[in-house]
Amino acid sequence: MRISTIEVYQRDLPVAGGPYRMASTSVDALDTTIVRIIADNGLIGWGETCPVGPVYQPHHAGGARAALAEVAPGLIGLDPLGIEPAREAMDERLNGHGYAKAALDMALWDLAGRHYGARVCDLLGGARRERVPSYYATGVSEPAETARIAADKAAEGFTRLQIKLGGRPVEADIETLHAIADAVPRGVRLVADANRGWTARDAQLISNACAGFPLTLEQPCSTIEETVSIRSQLRHPVFLDESAEDLPAVLRAITANACEGFGLKLTRVGGIGALRAIRDVCAARSLPHTCDDAWGGDIVAAACVHVAATVSPALLDGVWIAAPWIDGHYDAERGIAIRDGFIDVPTGAGLGIEIDPAIFGEPIAVYG
Ligand SMILES: [Mg+2]
Repeated sequence: MRISTIEVYQRDLPVAGGPYRMASTSVDALDTTIVRIIADNGLIGWGETCPVGPVYQPHHAGGARAALAEVAPGLIGLDPLGIEPAREAMDERLNGHGYAKAALDMALWDLAGRHYGARVCDLLGGARRERVPSYYATGVSEPAETARIAADKAAEGFTRLQIKLGGRPVEADIETLHAIADAVPRGVRLVADANRGWTARDAQLISNACAGFPLTLEQPCSTIEETVSIRSQLRHPVFLDESAEDLPAVLRAITANACEGFGLKLTRVGGIGALRAIRDVCAARSLPHTCDDAWGGDIVAAACVHVAATVSPALLDGVWIAAPWIDGHYDAERGIAIRDGFIDVPTGAGLGIEIDPAIFGEPIAVYG
C-alpha cells in the first residue's frame, strides 16, 4: 500500500456564543486546516490542525498550510502504515512546524486503524475506559458572570473547571476566583489558567490571596524560567501548558522541577505519536496531564479522546475539546460531543469519524 494523494481543505469555525476571550487575545472564528490522505487501494485517513488564532502559540493557519505544502509531497509513494518513517520524511523536508505535521500524523493513524480494523486507542496500547472526563474552560469575564457559568457547568456534570484569567488587574482575577470557589461544590477541581498573562508578582499575589481553597495554576507566567523563579513561593501546584511545546520542552520542565503537571495540546506537541511519548514520560514521573488541543473540529477532538482513553485514569486530568463552541459536526452521527461532563470514546476503526469530503467543498491543495 502506498500513499497516492493528499488533499488539503480549509474551513472556518465561527465561535458559537463567542468571542472566546483569553489573556492576550480574543477570537470570533477559527481557521482550521483538514487533510485527507488517500492510499492507492482507496483507504483514507483524516487529520486536522487548528491554531486558536495567531498569537496563542507561534502557530497560525496560513503557516500550517505553507508547511503542509513543503512536507506533503514527501509522503507521496510511502507506505502509510510506516508512521515513524513518514515522520522522518517530513522532518527531512522541513525543520519544526510540528503543529502542521501533526495533521498528517493524525491522518496516518486514522488510516492505519482502518487498515487493521482497530481503533487508534487500541493501536496506542488499549483504552483504559470507554468514557473520559472533559472539562469546561470559561473565557475571561466579569467575576459574577464567570461564577454563574462555573456553577452551571458544575451542575451539568463537569468535575474540572478551568478559569481563563489574565490581561487585566490582578484584583479582578482574585475576585473571580473567590466568587467561583463560593459558587461551585468542593468536589469540583478548579484550575486558574492565565495563558502566560501574569507576571511573577501577579502569580504570587493571586496564589497568596487564594490560599484558602484548592486550585491549580496553569501557565501562570510566560516561560519555564519565570515559573521556576516563583515556584517555591506559590501556595498552589502549577501546570505548564504553552511552555510544554514538545517532548524536549516537557523534559526540560521536569528536569527544572517547574511544575506538577501539564496541559497538553496534541497538534502543538507534534501529533498522536508525540503525545503518546509524553504520556509515557508523564506516567514514569507520576505527573497528571490533560489531552487537549487548542481548537479544532471532530477530527482533532477524536484524536484527543483516543489518546486520553489510553492514559492512566489517575493521571488524566481531563480532555478539553472545542465542541461546545462550535455549531454542528463534521460527522452528524459520530461527532465528538460532551455529555454530562464526559466524552464517549469513538467505537469505529481509526479515529472513528466518517466524513463526506463534500462538506468541506473543493480541496484548496492536492498533492500526488
Ligand atoms: Mg491552558
